[in-house]
Order: sequence, then C-alpha cells, then structure tokens
Amino acid sequence: MKLIFIGPPGAGKGTQAERICKEYNTVQLSTGDLFRLNRKLGTELGKKAQSYMGGGNLVPDEIVIGMLNDEIIKPEYANGYILDGFPRTVKQAEALDKLLEELGDNLDGVLVLSVPADELIKRLTARRTCRSCNRSYHIIYNPPKVEGICDFDNGELYQRDDDQEEAIKNRLNVYEAQTKPLIDFYQNEDKVMMINGVGEIDDIYSSIKSVLDKIGNHK
Ligand code: AMP
Repeated sequence: MKLIFIGPPGAGKGTQAERICKEYNTVQLSTGDLFRLNRKLGTELGKKAQSYMGGGNLVPDEIVIGMLNDEIIKPEYANGYILDGFPRTVKQAEALDKLLEELGDNLDGVLVLSVPADELIKRLTARRTCRSCNRSYHIIYNPPKVEGICDFDNGELYQRDDDQEEAIKNRLNVYEAQTKPLIDFYQNEDKVMMINGVGEIDDIYSSIKSVLDKIGNHK
C-alpha cells in the first residue's frame, strides 16, 4: 500500500503510522524524522533545515522534494510506504504526483487525521520524543514506563524545540494556510479518508484499520 498521512502537528500521525506499519508490514517515511536525523549527523542538509524547523516553519519545497526523491527510490520502499509529513504544500503534492507517474505508481489513499487546535496544543506541549528512534510519548496520557526513557530502546526522551508554545502556534498556522488545502487537492482525486483523531489511541487505530481494510478488499 502507498499511503499519505495528513494531519496537523500532534494529530498522532507518527504514532498511528507505526502501528499500521507493524500490522500491514509496510514502512514509514517521515520527512521530519529525516531532517532530525540529518541535524543529528550534522550534515549540510540538517544545518539548512534547522534554520526553518526551530521556529516551526516549513523547509523550502525544493529542499524537501529533493530529499524525498532521493529517499523514496531506496529498495526498502519498493513494496509500499506511509508518507508521514509529506507532502505539506500543494507544490510538494504536485511533485509527488509527477514522481509517482514516472515510477508508474499510484497512491492508494490519503488518510486525514483531524483534531481541534486546543487539543493539539495540549498534546504537543506535553510531548516527549526519543532522541534515537523518534517515538513520541505524552507525559500524562501515554507516558513511558520509566520517566525520561524510551520503552523501546532506552533512548533519552527530550522536548523538541518546535514543541515549545510559540513554535507550536506557528506550526498550527502553517498547517492551516499551507497543508490543509491538500485535502481539497486529494479530494479531487477521490483519495481522501477522514479519520477522527480524538479519543483513545486504540480506538483511533481501529477506525484507521477499518478504512484500510476496505482499500485492501478493493485492490
Ligand atoms: P514533523 O516531524 O513532521 O512535525 O516535522 C518537523 C519539521 O520538519 C517541520 O515543522 C518542518 O520544519 C520540517 N518538515 C518536515 N516535513 C516537511 C515538509 N514536507 N515540508 C517542509 N518542511 C518539512
């Protein structure tokens, strides 16, 4: 399956994508994780991206599209993927359409997770992320077993610099202005599946699963 996950920051894209990957034996491609990895490794790409990421702004389209084009052709994505955090602008969506056409591929669906802004702010200010595997936790609703330590790989949990209140507000504005129009873009291609992203993680996953199973049955 080739899927896109759209939703505001904090909607739970990464958390749900991880579950989908496990159950459907697919892989997640997160442009945010790729930028964070480059930043950690100190690459030129990472340094360039950081000047935008810190304040919650989007990295320019040419940089993201170039990175995605280089990544998606790797063998690990040959049997499918979930794009998490890409595309985020109409220009990126057009570039993805072009790339898929060149590769002779088709998207199976676009999952849109919707969550109101006040809930997102509550989630993001309490989010902690693993430095090594990028898994995220909520300090109250989804805490790690040991405070400050990732359950999966014992990595250190930290608060992302763009999970501070000012950057969060900017990210939510950026989502409304630049990413939300993608819902109409993909609605025109009849690919959109709306999911209510409020509630228990397990219940949200069940809604996603029933939508994905329908796609699977139609393939
Ligand atoms: P995320 O982990 O998806 O919240 O992404 C963290 C940050 O990485 C974003 O706030 C942007 O600065 C940058 N980023 C990730 N994906 C993209 C994208 N598709 N287009 C532009 N910037 C991106």
